[in-house]
Amino acid sequence: MDAMTSYDSMPDAPGAAETSLPAALTAFIDLDAIAHNVGVVRAAAGTDVIAVVKANGYGHGAVPVARAALAAGAAELGVAHIGEALALREAGIDAHITAWLHTNHAPFDAAIGADIDVALSSRRQLALVADAARRLGRTATVTAKVDTGLNRSGVAADEWADFADDLAKAKADGAVRVRAIMCHLVRGDEPEHPLNSQQAERLDAAAADLVRLGSPAEVMHIANSPAALTRPDLARDLVRPGIALYGCTPIPERGDFGLVPAMTLRAEVALVKNLAAGQGVSYNHHWTSDRDTVIAVVPAGYADGVPRLLSNQMHVQVNGRGFPQVGRVCMDQFVIDLGPDGGGVAEGDVVELFGAGTGGAPIARDWADQIGTIDYEIITGIGARAHRQYVGGAASDDSAEQR
Ligand SMILES: *Cc1c(COP(=O)(O)O)cnc(C)c1O
Repeated sequence: MDAMTSYDSMPDAPGAAETSLPAALTAFIDLDAIAHNVGVVRAAAGTDVIAVVKANGYGHGAVPVARAALAAGAAELGVAHIGEALALREAGIDAHITAWLHTNHAPFDAAIGADIDVALSSRRQLALVADAARRLGRTATVTAKVDTGLNRSGVAADEWADFADDLAKAKADGAVRVRAIMCHLVRGDEPEHPLNSQQAERLDAAAADLVRLGSPAEVMHIANSPAALTRPDLARDLVRPGIALYGCTPIPERGDFGLVPAMTLRAEVALVKNLAAGQGVSYNHHWTSDRDTVIAVVPAGYADGVPRLLSNQMHVQVNGRGFPQVGRVCMDQFVIDLGPDGGGVAEGDVVELFGAGTGGAPIARDWADQIGTIDYEIITGIGARAHRQYVGGAASDDSAEQR
């Protein structure tokens, strides 16, 4: 990888492994993988893509990911909070952005001013946005977010008729432009489940209501990553993939769909030392060596998103060899057992924690499987202390140092 040679100011001792990370803990973000994954989803869905870059681009960095996705053909961006959308605007991104999760105190004025598409989940939200638009003398761009069964965000079924009336009135007086109608699937990762089609039928009916009331939505979108990849019949005008863009398969039982993981988490060995038989390692000595061995300290911990629940369960890769993590994962560091011969590992060597799964190193889903969660939680959990290093064709000089 290009970036592996970027840190060349420190001369290596003869025979020592190359010191090659830009920071003690570095998340390499492969923007070519993001671009590739946009293509995979577009081809499978047969529609344009709203690249979901909420939660700091699932931990990858919202701005560089957004730029890479748009350059690769994504049509629009999607985020949860208006603040996330405003940050993209401040970075100079002028693509269409939809934000879909708001409290009644959300910065609706700023959203209207920055031309953010505000997805509305209630009459109350609609009133707040329409009032703000009238006050500002502007027309707010909005999406009707319909609760078709998830029972989370979205306009509740028993409020829909009144919401649709209010929306038609707000449209008639120029307060809003009804850009889209959307819903979110309950069981997108169970492609054959009948609820998927039922939700789409409910959204079609809601869209027909808006047509009847003279305030039709210009576009409709339903599908998250799993549905975008497996149910092109639900795609309508656009799909809204998140996890697939980052290269994690949304339905592991169906394989990887040709997606390429974009994040590789690496750390530099901070310390190598001998450990005598019978000695315990890390807090409360949850692991004790039964032989004289050599251990290494890795500067990554639960504050960086390495789950403490993985203590004594993780395997990492150093110089193409796997080594077990031993003892408790701490806030800032964990320890690996190099074995009696030290495994040929030296301070400064590069440890791969997870990545694209090449060469036997784990992928994020391996961590998730071990602790009973999903890879979404792993990749979004990689903390701000991990330096983000952008690699790949779209990684321009100015984005290379962005977090
Ligand atoms: C997060 C989110 C998505 C993306 O979901 P993935 O499973 O990551 O593809 C799409 N739509 C909405 C409303 C979301 O909140």
